[in-house]
Amino acid sequence: MKIQQLLQQARSDLDVRGLPTPGLDAELLLAFSIDRERHFLYAHPAKELSSVELKRFRSLVARRMKWEPVAYITGRKEFWSRGFEVTPDVLIPRPDTEILVEEVLKLSVREGEKDIRILEIGTGSGAISIALASELKNAFITATDFSPKALAIAMRNAVNNNMEEKISFLCGDIFEPVEEKFDIIVSNPPYISEDEFRLLAPEVREYEPRQALVAGPEGTEFHRKLARDGERFLEKNGWLVMEMGAGQRFTIEKILKDKDYCDITFRSDYAGVERVAMAKKRE
Ligand code: SAM
Ligand code: GLN
Repeated sequence: MKIQQLLQQARSDLDVRGLPTPGLDAELLLAFSIDRERHFLYAHPAKELSSVELKRFRSLVARRMKWEPVAYITGRKEFWSRGFEVTPDVLIPRPDTEILVEEVLKLSVREGEKDIRILEIGTGSGAISIALASELKNAFITATDFSPKALAIAMRNAVNNNMEEKISFLCGDIFEPVEEKFDIIVSNPPYISEDEFRLLAPEVREYEPRQALVAGPEGTEFHRKLARDGERFLEKNGWLVMEMGAGQRFTIEKILKDKDYCDITFRSDYAGVERVAMAKKRE
């Protein structure tokens, strides 16, 4: 069968199963099966696959039909226009998280030429720290996670993106491995509530690490700990920048106001959901 027919058939098989982006998934999986980029498919719609390639493609589509995320099937995900290795030990980096990176960049630029020290809590694949390291020439970044398996992947991603000299990786529970103070603490923490978790799409709920997603009954437990213990690890006028979920503004604002933070601001994502909370440690 030709590429064009294979794509049509896979798209329809995935569509019937209710997968949200069947056409895109079919293309990504076919390109991966023949070890080419996606644009090759448009240029060669009449190409026939070898029997090995065909078998491979069919087995990948079968996995996707069980809702396994495409990024785990291919082992790759793009973030901040860079390539990242991903496995089921790490959360697949989300496009929304680029907004968190943008906000940290804006705060860093305000610091001018001076060296800037950034701490990332819960680095997962390393996406945030690696994106920041690639943009900030004068930044020293420390990235933590309590999952040794996630850290191993983050370190490989740092090496593959040539950023390993700008990032130190530490393993431990939230601030436990941290000793110094920082100008900026950034985190995309787990922020799904127990109830929301049950309602997530099967590709997230059944495949991504639960410990990367769920944080207490309201989903704000991790923000609370970051705000409470983060004060000790922030320089005066240092910033805490956290990703958050829909409907969490009220709770997070209260958490920050109850501690020693000022200049509390929120930024929405492109869907209009408040996605990033920022606050400055008082002088
Ligand atoms: N930074 C990555 C990103 O944005 O794609 C991953 C974010 S994921 C939502 C949260 C990360 O926090 C996971 O990698 C998880 O292993 C880590 N994590 C969860 N609980 C933790 C804890 N108590 N201490 C340190 N890291 C934790
Ligand atoms: N945005 C992710 C989701 O909705 C959640 C990420 C997180 O908990 N930090 O699946």
